[in-house]
Amino acid sequence: MKYSSYNKLNFTVGPVMMDPDIKKIGSNNIPYFRTQEFSELMKENEKCMKLLLRCNENGRVIFLTGSGTSAMEAALMNSFTRNDKVLVVNGGGFGERFVKLCDIHNISYTEIRLRYGESLKTTHLEPYESKGYTGFIINMHETSTGVLYDMPLVSEFCKRNNCFLLVDAISSFLADEIKMEEWGINLLITASQKALALPPGIAIIVMNVDAVDRINKNKVQSLYFDLKEYLINGERGQTPFTPAVGTLIQMNKRLLDLRHKGIEKQICTVRKVAEDFRKKIKLLPFEIPSDSLSNAVTPLRPLGKLGANDIFNRLETEYGIWVCPNGGELKDSLFRVGHIGNISIEDNDKLIQALIDMKNKNIL
Ligand SMILES: *Cc1c(COP(=O)(O)O)cnc(C)c1O
Repeated sequence: MKYSSYNKLNFTVGPVMMDPDIKKIGSNNIPYFRTQEFSELMKENEKCMKLLLRCNENGRVIFLTGSGTSAMEAALMNSFTRNDKVLVVNGGGFGERFVKLCDIHNISYTEIRLRYGESLKTTHLEPYESKGYTGFIINMHETSTGVLYDMPLVSEFCKRNNCFLLVDAISSFLADEIKMEEWGINLLITASQKALALPPGIAIIVMNVDAVDRINKNKVQSLYFDLKEYLINGERGQTPFTPAVGTLIQMNKRLLDLRHKGIEKQICTVRKVAEDFRKKIKLLPFEIPSDSLSNAVTPLRPLGKLGANDIFNRLETEYGIWVCPNGGELKDSLFRVGHIGNISIEDNDKLIQALIDMKNKNIL
């Protein structure tokens, strides 16, 4: 078939539009990777990730070939044992995924269930103070509903209760401020296809010394997901199995650019695009059903005639624009507009214009 959707304006949350320089690197052959040169590139990638997250020098980074979920599963399997008792914040699709993973891997857990769009408050955590929990799992930004959780609140709880803190920051990295050391995050996950704006296929696990220690002591029933092997190989800039070599080379360029620009400036760029969109969307019949927003995404509930999924379809077929649809229960009531990747204020104007056009035609 002739694939035709390369030129759509993409407001989804991943994969997102890439910088021209990064696309150019992707047009090369994929080189052999058991080489000194590739090892050096991998070591540089690790160093850049630690610098961007201001992770302690003794921390480590694993580049796992798989989507973000592979890192969620690997992190959970390697960090916890049957002797742990963990809290999982579940406010949407990605929180639900951690719950399923705990079930599959027999990790004892208690779910902190939040309504769609609800933010995390002190009252949600109070019942679990001094109850012997050893771990806390949270998606910093629940991307399915667009709720950014109160990380200082979670951090304080974990410090008081001596909980190992595992944070899925897949959609927050480079979009929202993350204080890995200050918040006492033991293990943090991100992935290549969100704000890193690379092809999908690499998940990144960043660990502090305590997490590395835990992983090294833990026996894991898995070959591919035994992180000890990645830690050993990583010491010489290698991976146990063939990684997504091309994406890691593109990542090197992206990480060096980000290090040069500075993470604060990058977050500011994303925030400006998000704020611009939120200002302009006010003129149209939508509600933003979240009281704690990430810069990465704006969730929108349509208040007019057309349901969320129909809006997604019309924008795609009639305007060549992708917004991010929701699935399941939220399919007709919610869609999302992403602000990450190679997207600009001018792009926001094109989306707003398309929605205004739909409104003028009395469709919206
Ligand atoms: C995108 C995302 C994931 C990973 O999804 P994959 O499709 O497996 O890459 C996990 N958690 C959050 C919060 C995400 O936004």
